[in-house]
Amino acid sequence: MKAADLCRKTAGYCNEKGYVMEKREQLYEGKAKKVYKTDDPELYIVSYKDDATAFNGLKKGTIEGKGSINNRVSNFLMKKLEEKEGVPTHVVKELNDRETLVKKVSIVPLEVIIRNIAAGSLSKRLGIPEGTPMKTPVLEYCYKDDALGDPMINDYHILAMGIATREELDTIAAYSFKVNDFLRDYMKSAGIDLVDFKIEFGRTSDGKIILADEISPDTCRFWDINTHEKLDKDRFRRDLGGVEDAYNEILKRLLGE
Ligand code: ADP
Ligand code: UDP
Repeated sequence: MKAADLCRKTAGYCNEKGYVMEKREQLYEGKAKKVYKTDDPELYIVSYKDDATAFNGLKKGTIEGKGSINNRVSNFLMKKLEEKEGVPTHVVKELNDRETLVKKVSIVPLEVIIRNIAAGSLSKRLGIPEGTPMKTPVLEYCYKDDALGDPMINDYHILAMGIATREELDTIAAYSFKVNDFLRDYMKSAGIDLVDFKIEFGRTSDGKIILADEISPDTCRFWDINTHEKLDKDRFRRDLGGVEDAYNEILKRLLGE
């Protein structure tokens, strides 16, 4: 069957050039997602898994329904960031509960972390009790390298190692603060404090920096505004129980499901 005919049969699964958007060769299996090629060299399909890991893969488990929740939450937030804030993202189309068609990027190997309230590694490193509001948002970079344990680095390391140019880094920082401003307000309207989060950026084939990867309870700390209950992956990391319920609560508050 020709691609165009198949396209008609699989409405919504093809791009404007008539390529059928189905998973082809698996390129990568990470801790939380799998990445597949498609027939369009510029597009990938990401498939979100229920697998959960923490402490650089030392703790492993499953969070039932997580893949589907993270996929939908991430796409929902990225779409809003794109529409309302003009932050370009990799999201092209949500194909089903777990799978999304995304723009292929070459990931800039940085974990960009923004913190509004002290928690986790910042609390440990600096002796600031968890829950202490930061006077201004704190931006941190970690070098994305599992073998090295994702060490924290600064602008000078990034430029000296050639991870990004000055211009790219300025774009990354500006987009990251936009993400923080938007997400903090949006989560507040859903009764949630945005404590901190991690995002990743990539370069498209024409050299543009766009937001990639995911924004979900796996990659953010979300606390209920009133009870301060943790509604994120810390429930798994710290064996707090109620992990699935927390992920479902985020889905419900954001998408009303
Ligand atoms: P990890 O690699 O940390 O185990 P995941 O399981 O989430 O993480 O794997 C997804 C991988 O895909 C990550 O390495 C992420 O950087 C990468 N990625 C995310 N979005 C894109 C994209 N649009 N194009 C290419 N790679 C991407
Ligand atoms: N984070 C992430 N992936 C990582 C490390 C951190 O998504 O590999 C997120 C984490 O969920 C939190 C923020 O980044 O929202 C800051 O994490 P922190 O540095 O406190 O690390 P942790 O306490 O998770 O070791």
